[in-house]
Amino acid sequence: MKIERIPVLSDNYIFLLYDLKTRTAAVVDPAVAEPVLQRLEELELNLVTIFNTHHHSDHVGGNRKLIKHFPELCVYGGAEDRGRIPGQQVFLQEGDTVEFAGETGQVFFVPGHTRAHIAYYFPPTQGEDTGNLFCGDTLFAGGCGRLFEGTPAQMVDSLSKFRALPDNTLVWCAHEYTLNNLKFALTVDRYNADLQNRYESVKSDRAFGKATVPSILGIEKKTNPFLRWDSPSLQEVTKMQEPARVFGRIRGMKDQF
Ligand code: ZN
Ligand code: FE
Repeated sequence: MKIERIPVLSDNYIFLLYDLKTRTAAVVDPAVAEPVLQRLEELELNLVTIFNTHHHSDHVGGNRKLIKHFPELCVYGGAEDRGRIPGQQVFLQEGDTVEFAGETGQVFFVPGHTRAHIAYYFPPTQGEDTGNLFCGDTLFAGGCGRLFEGTPAQMVDSLSKFRALPDNTLVWCAHEYTLNNLKFALTVDRYNADLQNRYESVKSDRAFGKATVPSILGIEKKTNPFLRWDSPSLQEVTKMQEPARVFGRIRGMKDQF
């Protein structure tokens, strides 16, 4: 399957998954419909699936219009989001699987940003060496989503599921927040050389208007403070030991940043 990024609104990414052999497509979190419809037309694709990660309007805003154009399509979302995702037909839980273009994706239940948030992970298939993680607003490049409907402990649990995936996994997160996230990260982890290098390279990428998504999970593990609740430097900065407390303190600092 091929994956394309469609930048929309001020900083959202919609992801278009497609297979040219069957001319079918799936879309992850269509904030709006128009740019998706336009791209589908250009590539002559039939939209068969919407994969939603959570109910926020900048992730489901295009559902209705896409369903109108492709009445046969199927809308997937989290079981706990029942009633909040327009057109939802499939209610997914941890451990469920989804199919697209002959590939099988695994569903993770990742509450924290919202109480119903899910993520989709497609492991590497034959001939590919990287898996693809569609994590919505749970993990960002260099950051993580705000805790609107969840607790630090829940978010640590959720992010632990991602941290267990292979380092070369591509992280397809839903917003281009990376530069600001890394600016904050440097304030809590200033002696991290990997983080310093990443900041410099993202700064120059952004100066040229280059997208920083997808990122690579192994780099997140080394530089994203929200995946590093057990690193001595962050324990020292927060003066906390327990993962949920370290995480909660950093999240609180980021909310003020
Ligand atoms: Zn959101
Ligand atoms: Fe969002």
